[in-house]
Amino acid sequence: MEDRLVRLTSSLIQMENTTPERINYSVEFCAEWLQRHGVPVRLWENQGLKMITATIGQVNAGSTLVLNGHLDVVPGHPENFIPRVEGGRLYGRGSYDMLGSVAAMMTLAADLVHQPPNCRIILQLVPDEEKGGELGSGFLVEQGSIGDFVICGEPTNLDIAVQAKGVLQVRVEFSGVAAHGSRPWLGKNAIVAAIQKYNELATLDFMQESSRFFPVPSFNLAKIEGGAALNQVPDRCSLYLDIRYLPTQNPADILESIRQAVPDAHVETLRHGSPVTTSEFDPYVQSLYQSTAHVFGKKTALFGQDGSADTRFFAQYGIPAVEFGPIGANHHGPDEYVEIESLVYYQKILKHFIKQLEGKVSTNEIEK
Ligand SMILES: [Zn+2]
Repeated sequence: MEDRLVRLTSSLIQMENTTPERINYSVEFCAEWLQRHGVPVRLWENQGLKMITATIGQVNAGSTLVLNGHLDVVPGHPENFIPRVEGGRLYGRGSYDMLGSVAAMMTLAADLVHQPPNCRIILQLVPDEEKGGELGSGFLVEQGSIGDFVICGEPTNLDIAVQAKGVLQVRVEFSGVAAHGSRPWLGKNAIVAAIQKYNELATLDFMQESSRFFPVPSFNLAKIEGGAALNQVPDRCSLYLDIRYLPTQNPADILESIRQAVPDAHVETLRHGSPVTTSEFDPYVQSLYQSTAHVFGKKTALFGQDGSADTRFFAQYGIPAVEFGPIGANHHGPDEYVEIESLVYYQKILKHFIKQLEGKVSTNEIEK
């Protein structure tokens, strides 16, 4: 099993899934691989991006589990796309985030198709998680490709991310009065106004709150735009804020508190993404937790992600969704790797979890 996982993950790393053309090629490769292993595949296309769903198991049987993996990776140097095995680790761009998980899900599907479980598994391989996921997972959810529980194979070191912060990206535009730079007292400097207000915005009441799994919301001043000429008092300045709010917070309240703090500024929402609010007491979460403890042999942690993932598309329909993936490090950075042994465990945990979904768990059937 280990060799098969390493081979498939390595093939996916080499495909350099950083452009729509390469990602589409990779999707076709996965479709062909799955079909060759007897897994029926449905190929989708949305705005030029391809993606796959594959359904295994009984259509009308109890629970439906969605296994969601993204094929796209963030850019890297040419050497990042040459897979390398060293000291039990598989190095390469996407090995950890999340081509290793994709390979584990694909090989699992290939195994399951010969002994269909008494439940339903939907495998989704999507093309654009790193770009926001709207065209891939967002689209599939709109098309009704959903289930009772969702596992996105993001890198979590075999811990389970049950919640994620919401995304609220806003532009706050300050207005001033332009004047000649030699006589600034005749104008009103919009950049200075923005700077003077920044600290107040960053420390508003909503930033003092915390919730289970999260000590603070996130607040990042990502970009400033303002000023046109060196001899002019600027009459416009925009602060671009990337706010990641707590699952317990309401984005409308946050916007309102910003508007109240800067009543003369124009506040515009550029992007909103729902938080993930899966309960740690959800029976599927508990079951996955137990499978992990049983197969991996030690307690796993439930935690909250500061960043957002494709789980949010399911969460906005109230479907419990978690991020759960293998052990590794350095995703989006140099020397990204996945621990090969953890990939094997990952696949066994998923298998064990699926057995539990059938409601007839027999630990004897699990390969150790
Ligand atoms: Zn990812």
